[in-house]
Amino acid sequence: MHEVDVIVIGAGAAGISAAQRLAPRCSVKVLEARERVGGRAWTVDHSGVPLDLGCGWLHSADENEWADVATMLGFAIDPTPPPWSRRSHQLNFSATDQEAFSDAWDRFDKRIAEAARALPDRPAAELLEPGVRWNALLDALSTYINGVELERLSVHDFFRYHNTGVNWRVARGYGALIHAFAAGLDIALNSPVTLIDHSGEHVSVTTPRGTLTARAVVVTVPPTLIADETLRFIPALPDKVTAAAALPLGIADKVFLRLDNPDDLPVQTRLFGATDRTATGSYHLRPFGAPMIEGYFGGELARRLEAEDGFAPFAIDQLVALLGGDMRKRLHPIAASAWQRDPFARGSYSYARVGCSDLRTVLAAPVDDRLFFAGEACSINDFSTAHGGYRTGVKAAEQALAALQPVRA
Ligand SMILES: Cc1cc2nc3c(=O)[nH]c(=O)nc-3n(C[C@H](O)[C@H](O)[C@H](O)COP(=O)(O)OP(=O)(O)OC[C@H]3O[C@@H](n4cnc5c(N)ncnc54)[C@H](O)[C@@H]3O)c2cc1C
Repeated sequence: MHEVDVIVIGAGAAGISAAQRLAPRCSVKVLEARERVGGRAWTVDHSGVPLDLGCGWLHSADENEWADVATMLGFAIDPTPPPWSRRSHQLNFSATDQEAFSDAWDRFDKRIAEAARALPDRPAAELLEPGVRWNALLDALSTYINGVELERLSVHDFFRYHNTGVNWRVARGYGALIHAFAAGLDIALNSPVTLIDHSGEHVSVTTPRGTLTARAVVVTVPPTLIADETLRFIPALPDKVTAAAALPLGIADKVFLRLDNPDDLPVQTRLFGATDRTATGSYHLRPFGAPMIEGYFGGELARRLEAEDGFAPFAIDQLVALLGGDMRKRLHPIAASAWQRDPFARGSYSYARVGCSDLRTVLAAPVDDRLFFAGEACSINDFSTAHGGYRTGVKAAEQALAALQPVRA
C-alpha cells in the first residue's frame, strides 16, 4: 500500500505551487528539509520592516502568477519601477556616463541576440568590445543578474530568459507571500530527503525521520543537491546528475544596513560602489522609503565575502568612500544572506554552463511517469526566478495528475 498519492520534495516556490495544484485532486504530502517553508524566498522581520533575503522583485510582473496570488491573499503590491530602470545616483556616475553605459549595454545585448542564433554556444564575455571602459561594470551586472561573471555565462541560455521589463514588489515581502500560499498544505518540516527508491511498485522516500511511500513524487530541490547526490535515486539517474551539474547555482547575496538621519539620501535610488570594476556592490538607497540601504553582491565577490562574513564591512567601506566618514557612524548592519553556505540551497539561482542550456529540459523530464521534476532550474525561459519555480511546479503537478488519472478512473 502506498501512504499518499504524491510526495512533493521541497517547500519552495515550486514545491508549494505543485502541492497547491495537487491537493484538491489527490492526497499529497510535502517533505521539507528546513525548519521553515519558502526555500530561497525568505522574508525576515526587522522591527516591523520586512526584509527579503532571497527573492524581492516580481519580475515580468505583468504576467507573473505570484502577482495574482498576492491579490488573492490580500498582499499589497508596490508598482514603483526598480532603481535599475531609472537614473542611478550621480555621485560617482554622471548622467552622461550613465547614458554611455546604457548604450554599451544595448550594444552588448544586440551582440548576444546575434550570437544566440549561431552555433556553438559561447561565453558571453567573448562578446565584449575590447577596451571599452564599461566592460567591468557590464560584468558586475552579470554577477547580479546571473550570479556569475560573463566568462562563465552561456550566451544561448541568457538569450532564452524571458523578461517583460515590468518589475513590482510585494510590500510585506515576496518570501512572506510565498510562505502564506503554503497555508493548508500537509508539510513535514525538518525532513531532508536522502533517498528516492523507485525500483518497486511504489516510490519510497527516505528521510532521517522515516520512510514514506507514494504513487508519484515531485522533486523540487535545487540542482546542487542532485548534482552532488545529497539526494540519491535507486535506480540511479545519471542523466539527472549530469544535467544538474551543468546547471549550478550562481551566487548573489544581500546585506541590509539601517541608516540614521536618512533624509540627505534620495529614496529608491541605485548607487554603485564603483563603476570601474566587477567586484563591487550595488546599493539600493532607502527601499520603500525606509531608513535603510540594501546592498547586492554577486559572483566571485559574493563567494569571497560570504566566506569572510564580510558583506557589512565591505559595504560600509564602499559607502564611506563615496558618502563621507560620518556614514560609518550612521550605518548599522541588521541582516545579511549567505546562500552559498546554506546546505539546502548552496547558491542563489541557476545558470547553465556554456553549451548546456538544453539540459534544463533533461533536468525537467519525468522518469517512468512517476518521478516529476520542478524548480526554477527546470525552466527554459523563466529560470532563476520565483515565478519560474511556480510555473515548473504547476507543470509537474499536472504531469503527475495525468499519470495518476488512468488508475483513479
Ligand atoms: C539573493 C537572491 C535574490 C533573488 N531575487 C529574486 C527576485 O528578485 N525575483 C525572483 O523572481 N527571484 C529571485 N531570486 C530567485 C528565487 O528566489 C528562486 O529562483 C526561487 O525562490 C526558487 O524556488 P524553487 O522552488 O525552485 O527552489 P527553492 O526555493 O530552493 O526550494 C527548494 C526547497 O527544497 C528544500 N530542500 C532542499 N533539499 C531538500 C531535501 N533533501 N529534502 C527536502 N527538501 C529539500 C529547500 O529547503 C527548499 O525549501 C533570488 C534569489 C536569491 C538567493
